[in-house]
Amino acid sequence: MKITFKGGAREVGGSCTLVETEDARVALDYGIKIDEGVTENMQHHLDAVVITHAHLDHSGNLLTVASKKPIIIGSMATHDISMKLLRDLIKINRLKKKRFHYTKHDVSKVSDLWVTRNHIGIPGMEISLHAAGHVLGARMVKVKAQGKSVLYTGDFCTHNTEILDGVDPKTLPKELDALIMESTYGGTIRPKRQKLEESLTSKILEAMEKKGNILIPAFAFHRLQEITRKIDVAIKNKSLPRYNAYYISGLAHGINNYYNNNKSLFNKKVSDEINPFRFTKVKRLKRTEHIKEPAIVVCTSGFGHAGASRALLNQWASNEENTVIIITGFLPPNSPLVMAKEGKIINKDESIQVNATIEQISLSGHADQKELTEFVKILKPKQTFLVHGSLEQAQALSKKIKRYTEVQIPHKNEIIEI
Ligand SMILES: [Zn+2]
Repeated sequence: MKITFKGGAREVGGSCTLVETEDARVALDYGIKIDEGVTENMQHHLDAVVITHAHLDHSGNLLTVASKKPIIIGSMATHDISMKLLRDLIKINRLKKKRFHYTKHDVSKVSDLWVTRNHIGIPGMEISLHAAGHVLGARMVKVKAQGKSVLYTGDFCTHNTEILDGVDPKTLPKELDALIMESTYGGTIRPKRQKLEESLTSKILEAMEKKGNILIPAFAFHRLQEITRKIDVAIKNKSLPRYNAYYISGLAHGINNYYNNNKSLFNKKVSDEINPFRFTKVKRLKRTEHIKEPAIVVCTSGFGHAGASRALLNQWASNEENTVIIITGFLPPNSPLVMAKEGKIINKDESIQVNATIEQISLSGHADQKELTEFVKILKPKQTFLVHGSLEQAQALSKKIKRYTEVQIPHKNEIIEI
């Protein structure tokens, strides 16, 4: 079995790993890099593409495979949400007036090729999907061919979040010849989830006491639902005071409805509520101009590159009464939120001095170093390949797990045989 690390090697973004035997050629994930967008990175034929979850760094390049007609394998929720995200990706590229030749027609073609079964056989290869935590619909992929078993984790977490249960590694396949594992937080140990939750509430409270504006950039898929629900519930049960509270993202609004209609996919507490993602204290706004200040606003894009989060960052960063709360531990280098942390935002030709308070709380849906190490200890794969993490994070993790498994940190386009 030949494995080629096409993307997401020694970095986060553009995840894609190619698994080949004499009979079959399969891509595990088919993502884009945020700064490169959709690219035709795979010229040859593919029998199947497996998508672990709907985040575009794992699925965004699907637009380019429709014409190659592979079967596309992923959970039902990943299918449904990917369709929304791909349509949005087309819309954004059209708005930027970039030459972009993909249309909604390509999204329909992707949908037609999709199968949602948990086990599927293609000539010479068995493919199965397993729970992964992380976001709604996320799955790991096990590939079995020529007597070898490989598990590709995609993004995962083993801890429970407020809306979704993490994966229990004991329920996953064992006796693996190879594990291809994410390492986003391979060098990071986070405080317990509950501590982070409490810290978020207290940061919001402090910011509200200053009567300033509070900006929380979030991804339209999953993180926005998670954080908006948290604020909505907190205002309802009075652990946060009444405040002008909004979310801004048409895409997220559509996903909220999807979440309400599929609430049984969440944990018991959420699925027992009638409409867990219909918010009453946090209002939907279509435009930033309609914000009544001071306000708390959850909006896209998640890293502050574009949209309402970029506009509000530029508008609010210079005022010391305001607060920006970053809810992800990982930030792409040179992203606007990194600039904000460093004290100066460059916006076109203008330089904005940051006087607002910038807080960062790593409320992540990824496993941290402890979880990743425990995961390897339980699964005991013969070999482990670390992907989806900077070299620094992967190296730190490698030191921790090398007593349980043989570890490699592959380069982009590196080919290995097992
Ligand atoms: Zn993800």
